[in-house]
Amino acid sequence: MGAGLHGKNGLNPTACIHLLQVYVIPILTYGLEILLPSRTELQTLEIFYRKILKQILSIPTNTADPAVYILAGVIPIESRIHKLALGMYANICRTTNSIEREIAERQLGMKAINDNSWFSKLKQILAIYELPSSHNILDLPPTKNAWKKMVNKAVNEYWIEHIKKMSTYFKSLDYLNASNYSNGKAHAALASVQTSARDIARLPVKLRLMTGTYYLQSNKAAFNQNRIDPTCLVCQMEPETLEHFLLDCNVLAETREPYISELNVLIKECHPCVKCNTTNTFILNLRSILDPSTVCCGCDCNCLKTLYTFEHVTRRLCFALNTKRNNILKTLPNNRRKGL
Ligand SMILES: [Zn+2]
Ligand SMILES: [Zn+2]
Ligand SMILES: [Zn+2]
Repeated sequence: MGAGLHGKNGLNPTACIHLLQVYVIPILTYGLEILLPSRTELQTLEIFYRKILKQILSIPTNTADPAVYILAGVIPIESRIHKLALGMYANICRTTNSIEREIAERQLGMKAINDNSWFSKLKQILAIYELPSSHNILDLPPTKNAWKKMVNKAVNEYWIEHIKKMSTYFKSLDYLNASNYSNGKAHAALASVQTSARDIARLPVKLRLMTGTYYLQSNKAAFNQNRIDPTCLVCQMEPETLEHFLLDCNVLAETREPYISELNVLIKECHPCVKCNTTNTFILNLRSILDPSTVCCGCDCNCLKTLYTFEHVTRRLCFALNTKRNNILKTLPNNRRKGL
């Protein structure tokens, strides 16, 4: 991957994702609607897709998969191939007296749904998205625009529901709000990032904290075979959990304070949304700091600006705490850094 398409050096991640969608994915999936790849082949493609997305977002490879789609605001690559295949089928049905149409009529009549022929696979795809049956479309082909709209809606809705449901199975994604997830709209944590290299560099820490992949002492203790003490190495007072790190750790209090007061000022200025009537009431807790979109609707009125400001402050807070923590850990004598 080119140096620019990497979350750590330079380009804004939302712009990177856009470039990926416009220049890379069409070439990667070129002509695949004619082949309709098998499950294993699709998985290989999907793994590659997620790997690039994780690279752009600078999150570790062990991040739970649904998080990647939710943050980037994209749906699996399989959906793209399905959309193209469905479009092609409608094109065939719209022709009169073509060889393709004759083949379609013959194959649909002869082959069972579980057969390996293209038309049988297409029948399965139509069934997945609860679209009209292949015979209906053949008899009464929809117009190009109507069909495109219908397919896009059905396919997007199916995958968004699927990814949302999957995300609930991962405990690490507890703090990631998937309710605003849609195809083509990056999560506010990403969308709020400005073009300055400084702001872009702050993003990975926040994303790691949001997706449960930030290594705190308590995670290390839970996932390591060796016995590791979960106690916070910075203050030596209590187990280093997310809450302790972001809100409680005494040694980090001084670093935390300016951002918390900035947030408190913002909270006082919050108003209920005029569009959707969400109250937009912030309570300063772990959930609202990690993902402000949980409490702010982010409608396209003043709320979007409010949400982005919250994202900006919390992103700076997470980054400052991370820097301070790292600096303190670096100064620890070796025997106290066990398990780092
Ligand atoms: Zn501490
Ligand atoms: Zn609003
Ligand atoms: Zn709203």
